[in-house]
Amino acid sequence: MAVSAGERLRRALGRPGYPRVELPGDPSYETGRLPWQRAVEHRPAAVVHATGTAEVAAAVRAAADTGLAVTAMTTGHGSVAGVDGAVLLNLSGFRNVDVDPKLGHVSVGAGTLWSDVLHATKGTSLVPLCGTVATIGVTGYSLQGGLGWLARSDGFAAAGIVEAEMVAATGKIVVASPEEHPELWWALRGGGGSFGVVTNLKLRLATAGAVLGGYAYFPVEKAERLLRSFADWSETQPEWSNAAVMLLQVPDRPQLPALLRGRRVVAVRAFAAAGEAIARQVMNELIAPGGPPLAVDYTYGSFNDMITEQGPPPPPVASHERIDLFDRLDDAVIEAMLATAGPGSDDVVACVELRMWGGALARDNPARAGAHPSTRYSIITGARYEPQWEAGRVDEAVGAFVASLKPYSNGETLLNLCPNPGATAGAFTSAAYDRLRSVKAAWDPDDIFQPGHQIPPATSIGATF
Ligand SMILES: Cc1cc2nc3c(=O)[nH]c(=O)nc-3n(C[C@H](O)[C@H](O)[C@H](O)COP(=O)(O)OP(=O)(O)OC[C@H]3O[C@@H](n4cnc5c(N)ncnc54)[C@H](O)[C@@H]3O)c2cc1C
Repeated sequence: MAVSAGERLRRALGRPGYPRVELPGDPSYETGRLPWQRAVEHRPAAVVHATGTAEVAAAVRAAADTGLAVTAMTTGHGSVAGVDGAVLLNLSGFRNVDVDPKLGHVSVGAGTLWSDVLHATKGTSLVPLCGTVATIGVTGYSLQGGLGWLARSDGFAAAGIVEAEMVAATGKIVVASPEEHPELWWALRGGGGSFGVVTNLKLRLATAGAVLGGYAYFPVEKAERLLRSFADWSETQPEWSNAAVMLLQVPDRPQLPALLRGRRVVAVRAFAAAGEAIARQVMNELIAPGGPPLAVDYTYGSFNDMITEQGPPPPPVASHERIDLFDRLDDAVIEAMLATAGPGSDDVVACVELRMWGGALARDNPARAGAHPSTRYSIITGARYEPQWEAGRVDEAVGAFVASLKPYSNGETLLNLCPNPGATAGAFTSAAYDRLRSVKAAWDPDDIFQPGHQIPPATSIGATF
């Protein structure tokens, strides 16, 4: 009987000190293949659990020898395409953190979560450039951009990559930095996981004292006033100030406050890294036009607590999430948001979140792949595939909303929040995309590494290492 590629891989790796391999039919394969994003189904030839650099190198070598492609996964928050018949390299057990307080750097293993870094920096003034959810993986988030609360003052997480250790297509372990393999280092700062498996990242930490953060909730009828207030307010804000306005359908779940449960509301998320009085004053200016909130919880305290204590981590879901970017906030964009998720709208598009960019994000950083210097605003749209809805209803509703935004968006995307593997090039200028394809051709000419957002190798270049 013919031996499957997965079985050949297991035989190649079935030695002490080598990573654990799960094949279809093994009970643990069914859990090992599961991404957080359940709209995507992975059916790999094998799930390989690597917990250290040597195990990753062994897995990559064995996959290459067996003729299998490799996709890394830490949490699967960023799964955008099913892995079918390839190796799914599960890195969730590869977690370690080492903070260097003198240099203000943190080194992390491939599967480390932001919550691990927040735990390690707690009690210091050093803070990571994480996003709004602590249970996301540091490496995937940083390789694909990374847009957090501190982005307006400190830039994308990708721009904070000081050094990366990577297992290349040959199984060789290399370090990319401004001094060693600078082209690869450039590509890893925003170009995603196409070039190899990153086993260790050294990242710049920011500094922050106490910050103001949290949510204020208003009846959805106040949506227009609050969106227009945000449009004016965001024009004048210093880099330490940030906020987002969300039009939210709150689920009807008993654990949620009765005042909000099952309602469509407006939530204004606040962030201000300043003294308490000025931070509160700035946020009050934003929300005052909304009148008295239904509920407000703006807390002044440590950055770490703000990220880790904003409710339980979101459980795995099947959802349609996407981001659209804008150079300015036209009235028509506000009107489109209101029509889709404002008063009287149905509950299919559960969340539309308007964020502000600018500040450090607008300063073009030539050392980072995928810059969006003209972008001033973004809208993140989220809709769950609920079982009671007919197939296609969610995609139709999101599609109609996106079509209404299209004349006003700049057509670019951010890899981290782009659900469409066919839209990867839209995260880069055409010059940056061509340069990324050359780096890919140099490091992975046979296209072994296939993350959902894949950079294809340029065809005319051979391996150079
Ligand atoms: C609830 C929620 C909130 C979010 N909030 C934000 C936010 O505030 N800001 C923001 O910018 N984004 C946000 N995102 C998007 C999130 O940052 C991306 O989904 C991110 O890619 C997740 O990284 P991960 O490692 O957890 O996921 P994974 O799906 O495991 O990995 C993401 C990608 O990186 C690749 N990858 C992972 N590890 C490696 C590695 N070691 N080497 C090479 N490639 C690797 C994977 O192949 C995949 O393509 C959010 C997403 C969700 C679902």
